[in-house]
Amino acid sequence: MLRARGMLMPSSHPARSMLGVATVSGIPCWNSAVLDIQHRVDFTSPIPCILETLREDELADILANKAARKYFLRRYRRNHVVPIMQAYDEEAFAKAATKHEWPYVEFQPSPECLPAVLLELDWGTETWYFYRAWAVTRVLGRLPLTVFGGDDTPSSLCTCPLCGLNTVDVVHFLHACPATWDLYTEFCISMGIDFSSGQRLRWTRLRLELFADRVGFLSTVAVEGAARIGYVGKVMQRVAKLLVVAGHDIDELLAAAAAATPEAVLP
Ligand SMILES: [Zn+2]
Repeated sequence: MLRARGMLMPSSHPARSMLGVATVSGIPCWNSAVLDIQHRVDFTSPIPCILETLREDELADILANKAARKYFLRRYRRNHVVPIMQAYDEEAFAKAATKHEWPYVEFQPSPECLPAVLLELDWGTETWYFYRAWAVTRVLGRLPLTVFGGDDTPSSLCTCPLCGLNTVDVVHFLHACPATWDLYTEFCISMGIDFSSGQRLRWTRLRLELFADRVGFLSTVAVEGAARIGYVGKVMQRVAKLLVVAGHDIDELLAAAAAATPEAVLP
């Protein structure tokens, strides 16, 4: 967009002159790097120069009309840059999601932008802190230890630091670990979910309750959104406290998990 802004300047403007010289010379520089990106072969189509998107009468406007230049820039971004970049992102997401070691689709089946309505929610400091853990868990399908001071996001651990079970992952902590039952019941009370049987919801159902398909669901009922975030965040914090704060040998745990077969550790 910076190059596009420069291209809209009058030809006498220094920035416009520099772009013109750089383009004609073909010398490798910032300008040529931007042009290379615009013409990436893995884009659905090249991103055109902004001047190619203007009609003749609009070209006359850009010389003296600052408001018109702003409008053309917004239109260029909306109609020509964003659609191609979004298509590129979605294709990259789909490609990566087919890789065996990338279980993200289990929690988040498609890429999406966070809805602006989330900014209007007054959840308080704790929930917004846990939101980071919730979001990392949802995006990666891994333990969000980095949110709590760790330096990794392991997909599994050889031993549950809470109950001692072997080869555990995010699903275990949220769905099965007896040491997180109290947090689960707290979540159920906020959500109006019956837990009198002593059993948790089936994972496919609980996964939808916690992560659903779209982030927008968090704001539909703000209290329930906070409960979903709080449950995931508190569970992950409890795990992280033992792994990160208490100084368990996380490297050893990670090495053992890496040695396990992928089939054994994926949900
Ligand atoms: Zn456990």
